[in-house]
Parts: sequence; structure tokens; C-alpha cells
Amino acid sequence: MNASATIAEPGATVRVATKVYARFLVVIFALGPAYLIAYLFFFQDPTLKFEHHPLHEIAIAAATLEGLFVTYVTWRCYRSSGEPLLRWLTLGFLGFVLIYTLHGAFTAMAHHNIWLFLLYGPASRFVMSVLLFVGLITFGQPPDSAEKRTNLRYWLTWTGAFVLIDIAVAYVANSPIAGHLGVRLSMEGGALVCSALNIAVLLTRRIRSPLMLIYGISIGAFALSSLAFILGRPWNHMWWLAHAIFAGGFFLLSYGIIQAFHTTRSFATVYSQEEMMARLAAAMARTESALQELQRTNEKLEPLAATDPLTGAVNRRQFIKLVEAEIARAKREGAPFSLLALDLDHFKAINDHYGHQVGDEVLQGFVHKCLDAIRPYDGVARVGGEEFMILLPKAPLDVGKSIGERIRSAIENAAFGTALRRKVGVTVSIGVSQFERDGSTIDTIFRAADERLYRAKDEGRNCVIAL
Ligand code: GH3
Ligand code: MG
Ligand code: MG
Repeated sequence: MNASATIAEPGATVRVATKVYARFLVVIFALGPAYLIAYLFFFQDPTLKFEHHPLHEIAIAAATLEGLFVTYVTWRCYRSSGEPLLRWLTLGFLGFVLIYTLHGAFTAMAHHNIWLFLLYGPASRFVMSVLLFVGLITFGQPPDSAEKRTNLRYWLTWTGAFVLIDIAVAYVANSPIAGHLGVRLSMEGGALVCSALNIAVLLTRRIRSPLMLIYGISIGAFALSSLAFILGRPWNHMWWLAHAIFAGGFFLLSYGIIQAFHTTRSFATVYSQEEMMARLAAAMARTESALQELQRTNEKLEPLAATDPLTGAVNRRQFIKLVEAEIARAKREGAPFSLLALDLDHFKAINDHYGHQVGDEVLQGFVHKCLDAIRPYDGVARVGGEEFMILLPKAPLDVGKSIGERIRSAIENAAFGTALRRKVGVTVSIGVSQFERDGSTIDTIFRAADERLYRAKDEGRNCVIAL
């Protein structure tokens, strides 16, 4: 009895409860940043600031390098799988990096042109959230063609578009409309709305693969970071928290990308553990049934592979196995055994006179006669065209010789060939050898029997030679 037979499986209630709990945990994790936002919002003075330019510059330089690396890995995944979502993710990351970098680069401008410094942040998040949203819409679509994946112009066009956005942001920052609160808030709000829509689509389409779960939580972090940016003011703690939440989302999403990179290079075809177990079980069941089928086929094939189709005698390979087994037994029990080497006399002439078909009938009839003579054993082997060998267990040389004699005379007195009105007669020459007496290996006892068979041929055929 195994463990699963003795220990009862947990009931359906427990399984449902654990699933509900797992979903609850996902929501709790996804909302993690919201608690921090609420804490700062309700318990901290928004006028408290931490204005530290080098820290901001270093953080954004690090984000740029990391962003480029993630963009590259995402692009590699896209090149392998062609998944449209990954193309949009690559574009989203690339756009984000190319725009966000300027937010860091213009840190020093914070006091001269606050908008040139500030606007690149929401612009980068807005562009990325739009591209990620478009990406999700394409989720589940067939992979892009190889040409599309390697089309350099596609990427250059988009890079150009991101540079144009950079220029447009600079233009707006230097124009009088920059000071209107609406410019920054509409971009940040746009990012928030796009991320919220993204999550809504994820939920309504019930996309639940593990990487898409990571994707969803990351998008949630982007949405909450936009919320924190809206609630914050430059350099205050809500503003810094917003940066940290965004970075958290970005790190998590890049974790998903790395998972994809090391598995299927696709977000759609990385399975959950449950799915994996189910697929594994199905694959194991298929393998098991294929193995059983193979075994049944093998059982059917085994006798076919071991016997000669014309006469039904065992073939040379099988005969060697039988003799090997007999040698082992003879060594164990000390009982000697004999071998007969048989060759039909002037068989070529029978073929020449009566035709090949009659020759075949003679061969079949010959094996029948041999089996009759050696019952209850069936160690008759066809080792060549009209050459045979017979294994005689527990028979010393003299017994072997007398059985050989019995076969010789039975053949001499028999008539073969049903296809003819006149029956065909044939004779056989036989050599006999005995295990231990003539050698203790297959080779030596075979050779001894063969040599005696040739002597029988020399001595006029139709005879048995044992010494
Ligand atoms: P010997 O007395 O010296 O043994 O003469 P032999 O004619 O029997 O010997 P040889 O080796 O010259 O010829 C054997 C013949 O057996 C040649 C071949 O045509 C024939 N033979 C071999 N296999 C088959 C078979 O499957 N069917 C038929 N009909 N003939 C076969
Ligand atoms: Mg012959
Ligand atoms: Mg021969």
C-alpha cells in the first residue's frame, strides 16, 4: 500500500478555500504600495521635502542602465517567440528609457526650468503605459513573422518617434502652457487610466498565466505610482515614494521577462504549476500507454524474429541463445548435451530437377521429420540454406549419435513434395558433438559438429559421424 492509499486527499472545501486565499494574497500584494501612499497622505506633512539632486541623478542613471538591459532581454525574447505582446513591451521599455533619461539629465535644471525637469517623468510613464496597454490587447495573437521580427526599420521608426516626443516635451516645457497644472496631470492621469484599463482587460479576459500575473501586479504598481505622483509635489516624500513604487513595478516586470527568457521566451506559454502538473501527468499517461503498446507489439514480434519463416525452425541467433542456456544448465547440473549439424545431400540437384518450390517443401518436410524424431524438444535450427542444427539436452555423444541415426533413416525413408505426382526422396549427412567432451564453448562444439558433418559428406553422405 502506498502513502496516497492510506492518507485521504484533502476535501473540496479545503481546495476551494486555499484557492480563494491565494487570490486574496495576490490582491494584497498588488495593493501593497497603496498602504504606503495612504500612510503618507494621511499622516505626513506634504510640505516636508528632501531635495537631493545627486541621489535623483544616480537613481535615474541606474534606472536607465537597467531599463536598457531589460529592453534588450525583452527584445531577445520577442525575436525568439515573435509574441506581439513582447514587441509592445520592448517598445514600452525603450520609449520609457529614452524619455525618462532626460528627466534625470535635467535634474540640475530643477531651479531654472522646473517643467523641463518635471515633464519628462509623466511623459515617459504615459508613453509606456499606452504601449503596454496596446500590448495586452494583442495578447494571444499568433506570433509575428520572421521578417517582421528582424525588421530594423520598424525599431528605427519607433526610436525616431520617441526622440520626437522628447523634442515635443522640451517645446512644451519652454512654452507658456507648461505652467498649467493640466499638462503634467493629464499625462500622469493618462498613465493612470491606461494602467487601470490594462488591469481591467486582464481581469475581464481572465488571463491567468503566471507571467501574466506578474505583469498584472507590475501594471498595478505603475498605476499606483502615477497616483502617488499626482498626490505628491516635487521633492516631497510622496514624490520619492512614487519613484520607488514605479521602480518596484519595473523590477517585478523585468523578473517576469527574465523568467520568460530562461523558459519559453514567451509570456503566454509559461504554464502555472497546476497546469504543468496536469500536462506532466497527461504526458506520463501517454508514455505509459505507448510503452504498453510497444511491449505488446514486441511480444508479437519476438517469435517472428526468432524463427525462420519458411520452416518454422528457430534461427541461428535464437539457437545460440538456447545453446548458451543449455551450457549454463549443463555446468550447473553436470548433465552433458549434444549437438547435431545436418546438411541435406545434393540439395542443389533437387532444386535443379524439380524447381525451387519443391525444394522449399522438402526443407519444410525435413524440419517436421526432425521435430518428430526429437520430441518433446524443439531445438531445431535452420542455420543456412539447407543446413540445420539440433540441440539435444541431457544427451551424451552416443545418445546424440543414435538420435542422429534415427533422423537420418527417417529422412531416407520419407517422401517429400506434395506439388508433384512423383514423391521426392532426399538424404541427410550429420555430424555429432558433445559439450565438455569436444569443447566447453559454443565455438568449439559447433566446430566439432561441423567437421564431422564434412567427414560424413566425404565418406559418401547419408551417414552420421560422431567421433
Ligand atoms: P552437398 O551434398 O555437398 O551438401 O550438396 P548440396 O547441393 O546440398 O550443397 P550446395 O551447398 O552446393 O547447395 C545448397 C543449395 O541449397 C543451393 C541453394 O540453391 C539451395 N537452397 C538454399 N536455400 C534454399 C531455400 O530456401 N529454398 C530452396 N528451394 N533451395 C535453397
Ligand atoms: Mg547440402
Ligand atoms: Mg550446404
